[in-house]
Amino acid sequence: MVVIGSGFGGLFATRALRRAPVEVTLVAKTTHHLFQPLLYQVATGILAAGEIAPATRHILRHQRNARVLLGEVTNIDLEARTVTSAPANGTTVTPYDSLIVAAGAVPSYFGNDRFADHAPGMKTIDDALEMRGRIFEAFEQAELEPDPSLVQRWLTFVVVGAGPTGVEMAGQIAELAHRTLKGNFRNIDPSRSRIVLLDAAPSVLGSFGERLSGKATRELADIGVDVQLGMNVVDIDATGIDVLDGTGQRRRIESVCKMWAAGVSASPLGAQLAAASGAKLDRVGRVEVDPDCTLPGHPDVFVVGDLMALDDLPGVAQVAIQSAEHAADQIDRRLRGEEIGHRFHYKDKGSMATVSRFHAVASVGRLRLAGFPAWVMWLVVHLLYLVGFKNRLTTVLHWTHSFVGRGRAERVTTSQQVLARSALESTGRLSAAPPE
Ligand SMILES: Cc1cc2nc3c(=O)[nH]c(=O)nc-3n(C[C@H](O)[C@H](O)[C@H](O)COP(=O)(O)OP(=O)(O)OC[C@H]3O[C@@H](n4cnc5c(N)ncnc54)[C@H](O)[C@@H]3O)c2cc1C
Repeated sequence: MVVIGSGFGGLFATRALRRAPVEVTLVAKTTHHLFQPLLYQVATGILAAGEIAPATRHILRHQRNARVLLGEVTNIDLEARTVTSAPANGTTVTPYDSLIVAAGAVPSYFGNDRFADHAPGMKTIDDALEMRGRIFEAFEQAELEPDPSLVQRWLTFVVVGAGPTGVEMAGQIAELAHRTLKGNFRNIDPSRSRIVLLDAAPSVLGSFGERLSGKATRELADIGVDVQLGMNVVDIDATGIDVLDGTGQRRRIESVCKMWAAGVSASPLGAQLAAASGAKLDRVGRVEVDPDCTLPGHPDVFVVGDLMALDDLPGVAQVAIQSAEHAADQIDRRLRGEEIGHRFHYKDKGSMATVSRFHAVASVGRLRLAGFPAWVMWLVVHLLYLVGFKNRLTTVLHWTHSFVGRGRAERVTTSQQVLARSALESTGRLSAAPPE
C-alpha cells in the first residue's frame, strides 16, 4: 500500500500498519516528519529545525514492512491504482492496492498570492527558517539604519491572524524584543519594537471561547503586543501593510517584517482527487469523504487529516492522527477478512495555545485553564508528541535556556534563509506547475 505525506497523518498511518501483512511505501516531498505546532519556536530562535523535524527514514528504520520515497506526488490514477511522484530527476510510478492520502494543507492568502512574497506563511521548515532570517535581519538592519525616521519601520513586526499560530508567533517576537535581545545592540533599543497582531475577526483565539480569549488578549497586552481586531488586510508590499479598519477607513502600518497566519487551504491533491472521482470539496478545498474516511466510490482510497472534510472536524493534529489510525485499522481488517466500512469517531482531546512564557490557554473537555497551569499542560503534551528521545531531551534544554533564562540558542541565519523566497523563485521551484 501507499501513504502520501510524512506529517501526522502519514507517519501515524504507517506506524499503525507495522504489524499488518502489507508492504507500505510512504511517499513525501520532504525527508522529514514535521511537528508543525512548534514551527514558531524554530522561527524565533528557541529550537533547532532538527528537533521538530526528525528524518522519516530514521523514525521508520525498524519497521521492516515500510520504505520511504522522496518525491512530490503529481498524479494519482484511481483506475490504474498508481501514484506518480517527481523526485529531483525524473518520475516514479508506484502501484497500490490501498492508498492513504495525507497531504495536508498550504497557506491561503484568499486569492492574494502575491502577499506571500512579503508575508510568508508558516507551514514548513523552509518557512520557519526564512521567518527566522527575516526577524533577526530586521533588528540588524535597524541597528545599521542611518535614517532615524526609518528605524521604527524595521522594528515593527506585523503578524496577520489571531489564531493559535499568530498568537504564539506575536508572543514570542515580543519576548525576543523585550527580553532576549536586551543589551545586544548599541544604536537601537529592541524593547522599543512594536509587535502588531491583526485579525479581521472580533476576538483573539476565538475558538477557545470568550473567557479564555479575554485572558489571552490581556496577556498579549501585558507583554506589549498591539492587538488590532476587525482589520481587513487589503494590500501588503515590501515596506508595509494596508488595512481597512472597522469604519471602512484605509490605514497603513509601516513594517518590513510581516508574517501570514490567517488561513490555510487544502493541498492541491484534493482538487485532483475530486476531479478524478467526482467527490465534493468544501470551501477550503478539503475532500468530502464517506464516514469511514474513504473517497466516495473508492473504498481502497482513504483521505485523512487536514485534507479530509468530515463532520466539520478542524484541521488539527489529533484529527490527523486519529483519522490516519482509523484508515490503517480498516485496511488491516480488510486484509484479515473482517468487516470494514466502520464510521470514524473523533475523540476530542482538547486544544491549547501558548501566549508567552509561563502563560497558555487550554480547553480540555469542560476544563478551561489559563496562565501557568495551562502552560505546564501545554509543555507536557508537546513533549509527549515530539518524536524521539534525543529531541525531547534537547527541547527541554532549549526551553529551560529560553524560558527560565532569556537566551535563544538558535539565532543562526544565513543569506539563503533571508532570501529564501526569491532564491527559490529564481530556480523555478516556487512556480512549479500544480499537480497534473
Ligand atoms: C504553524 C502551525 C501550528 C499548528 N499548531 C497546532 C496545534 O497547536 N495543535 C494542533 O492540534 N494542531 C496544530 N496545527 C495543525 C496540525 O499541525 C495539522 O492539523 C496536522 O499537521 C495535519 O496533519 P496532516 O498529516 O494532515 O498534514 P501535514 O502534517 O501538513 O503533512 C502533510 C505531508 O504531506 C506532504 N505533502 C504535501 N503535498 C505532497 C505531495 N504532493 N506529494 C508528496 N507529499 C506531499 C508534506 O510534505 C507533509 O509531509 C498547526 C499547524 C501549523 C501550520
